[in-house]
Amino acid sequence: MVQKLEMIYEGKAKKVYKTDNPDLAWVEYKDDATAFNGLKKGTIMGKGELNNKISAHFFELLAQKGVPNHFVELKSDTEQVVKILQIIMVEVIVRNIAAGSLAKRLGLEEGTPLKHTVLEYCYKNDELGDPMINDYHIAALGLATKEQMAQIAEMALKVNEVMREYLKDKNIDLIDFKLEFGLHRGKVLLGDEISPDTCRFWDTETKKKLDKDRFRRDLGDVEDAYREILKRLQGGE
Ligand code: UDP
Repeated sequence: MVQKLEMIYEGKAKKVYKTDNPDLAWVEYKDDATAFNGLKKGTIMGKGELNNKISAHFFELLAQKGVPNHFVELKSDTEQVVKILQIIMVEVIVRNIAAGSLAKRLGLEEGTPLKHTVLEYCYKNDELGDPMINDYHIAALGLATKEQMAQIAEMALKVNEVMREYLKDKNIDLIDFKLEFGLHRGKVLLGDEISPDTCRFWDTETKKKLDKDRFRRDLGDVEDAYREILKRLQGGE
């Protein structure tokens, strides 16, 4: 039995605690929500529980499909135990359909299918607003090795394939999402979370947004959207 010890870090959406096992951390998901690099703040009632469960669900699916990741076990409605990673300071974005910043940057209407999957990297640095970078910047800053980035790209595309296929049956379009990776005992593992906070999910039929864009853009029904995602993952339509 893993024991929860003192808090070591509090982020925007999670609190992280030490445990009596030096390889493991205890993560508590919060209801707090932020957007636009922390400029917009709010609370989404029940989000901690929903994201804890949604993220655990995706990480279990991905482990089964051969994507090594940090998830160990759920501990309560809002808590889970994960392997401690030395986080690689690169956010990886995968896109299937134009939305958000890509739609704006390339002048595409939101919802335009992309002819090829897009991988983007951002430097994980709040002060700089997570600027977009490429493999050369990553090498120049020493954020990861070439070999690690090759593995990360391959894993990110695999996550996309597994999740798209899985969500198709649930009537959910996977528009885009953000991943983070880290090193655990020298191995690259998928970390962080996979939830409506980090993915764009649209209902396949109605194209209704079932993700954090409801909070970012004040569309209402935010909690309902997160609840709907968990319900569909658990098989209750
Ligand atoms: N994303 C994220 N954290 C970030 C930035 C983006 O989880 O700090 C996710 C976002 O939810 C979306 C995808 O990555 O699913 C692409 O986001 P985009 O670059 O369009 O940024 P945004 O529209 O959020 O500014």
